[in-house]
Amino acid sequence: MERTAAVIGSGFGGLALAIRLQSAGIRTTLIEARDKPGGRAYVYEDQGFVFDAGPTVITDPSCLEELFALSGRDIADYVDLMPVSPFYRLMWESGNSFDYSNDEPELLRQIAAKNPRDVAGYQRFMEFSDNVFREGYQKLGHEAFLDFRSMLEAAPSLMRYQAYRSVYSMVSSFIEDPELREAFSFHTLLVGGNPFKTSSIYALIHALEKKWGVWFPRGGTHALVRGLLKLFTDLGGEVRMGQKVARIEAAAGHVMGVTLADGTELKLDTVASNGDVVHTYKDLLGHHPRGSKMSKSMQRRSFSPSLFVTYFGLKAPQPQVAHHTILFGPRYRELLDDIYSNGVLAEDFSLYLHHPTASDPSMAPDGCSAFYVLSPVPHLGKFPADWDSVAPAYADRILAYLERRLIPGLRDNLVTMRTFTPENFRTELNAHLGSAFSLEPVLWQSAYFRTHNRDDVLKNLYFVGAGTHPGAGIPGVVGSAKATAKLMLSDLGAEYPQAGSNGGPSLQAAE
Ligand SMILES: Cc1cc2nc3c(=O)[nH]c(=O)nc-3n(C[C@H](O)[C@H](O)[C@H](O)COP(=O)(O)OP(=O)(O)OC[C@H]3O[C@@H](n4cnc5c(N)ncnc54)[C@H](O)[C@@H]3O)c2cc1C
Repeated sequence: MERTAAVIGSGFGGLALAIRLQSAGIRTTLIEARDKPGGRAYVYEDQGFVFDAGPTVITDPSCLEELFALSGRDIADYVDLMPVSPFYRLMWESGNSFDYSNDEPELLRQIAAKNPRDVAGYQRFMEFSDNVFREGYQKLGHEAFLDFRSMLEAAPSLMRYQAYRSVYSMVSSFIEDPELREAFSFHTLLVGGNPFKTSSIYALIHALEKKWGVWFPRGGTHALVRGLLKLFTDLGGEVRMGQKVARIEAAAGHVMGVTLADGTELKLDTVASNGDVVHTYKDLLGHHPRGSKMSKSMQRRSFSPSLFVTYFGLKAPQPQVAHHTILFGPRYRELLDDIYSNGVLAEDFSLYLHHPTASDPSMAPDGCSAFYVLSPVPHLGKFPADWDSVAPAYADRILAYLERRLIPGLRDNLVTMRTFTPENFRTELNAHLGSAFSLEPVLWQSAYFRTHNRDDVLKNLYFVGAGTHPGAGIPGVVGSAKATAKLMLSDLGAEYPQAGSNGGPSLQAAE
């Protein structure tokens, strides 16, 4: 008899899970509340400018290739991934800058110019990062941690890599130069973690980037989202776009289906939520004792901060700006304390600037340039502001700062601009407290201590995405889909499909 599944939400995790289920012959329906797929990877189009809403740094393309290879397909037939170099340009107010890439001699030259002793330290750091990458990402990154025993089994290797230390502390044990310490520790911010609190295990991001490079899909991240959605429909999957799930129907330890906001009822053998974990337990399952219990316990947990994103189009090209730039402000640890602990919207910023037209000029009208600038800010639980009134002045301060540091004449060249605030994360993505990355990635909220990929009580309810193991970021949520699919297919008695003969990674690391 044909088995049926629904995946609630079309973020990268939801898409990857739906593809895995459909590839295994489960009749799968993907239900998305918004008018376009992608979740945090939504897209805006405005006067010929294309603005990817969220993720732009695409790492580990092999985890995406695998989704196509499951059905013998080739990712290249769906999306064109282009290597980006440098991976990032890092800039400090001191006037120093650093191009981070996997051009090893150039990297070592730049490190030596800042502090010759840090060359050897960097090499030891990379060795550490490589080891953690093999242990933490390749072995454990797509395994579900459902019981405490699985955590105990992983504990020795976690302890070997001093997982109890923070990324910053670990980087500082290898590297002396204060700016280089920032350069090699800021990466946890890309998955919502404070480098001073996030486990040193997250240092694996360096090895992951160096192994597979940083990529950008031609046409933008949303071209990749559309490629994944097309793969799903080519496989025969059903998509319900613009349809919000209002309830997950459950009784006697089982889920029976879902009810949509328009009253449509879908009977299903199994359901997975890619929606926010608090939203799922509180709003979709609040009528069931399991939902109300879990929603209370989830709300006591620590959530990662939010982001304030300003998308803007300029009527002139900006060849001096790299594709990915990190602009460090005057403070590092203290600014992070304001964001993560003090709930202060600081006067200074550290910013990530995205400039997609550096790689793909078609993302703006001829002779124009497209950007977004992202400022990490406290979530609504720590800074409960009325963002409608805060946003215009805050955006203007950020643009003025960019104008001073990097893009002279920015505001005179402005054609279009829009913002996305913590309040938008809450209302448009149902994100608890407007958090941009769900549960904070700290050791006591990782693996077994994160939301389980399968609910402990409702045996055919599953989770996928940033709130589950291993966590936020595209490789993280795509890994969570692999862990969740394994559980779902095994529970359904279905075979777990392996990648076809073309399943190995074919994209080479960017030079
Ligand atoms: C601005 C920004 C920049 C980022 N940059 C990067 C980057 O460069 N590289 C990287 O790897 N990661 C990056 N990240 C992190 C990464 O984007 C996320 O961790 C990841 O995309 C989250 O995917 P997800 O599977 O958890 O689903 P989400 O993207 O959270 O999507 C969940 C979906 O579920 C839908 N949904 C929720 N409730 C319902 C309901 N009741 N009914 C129907 N649908 C529902 C929502 O509408 C949404 O579409 C960034 C994040 C942000 C916000």
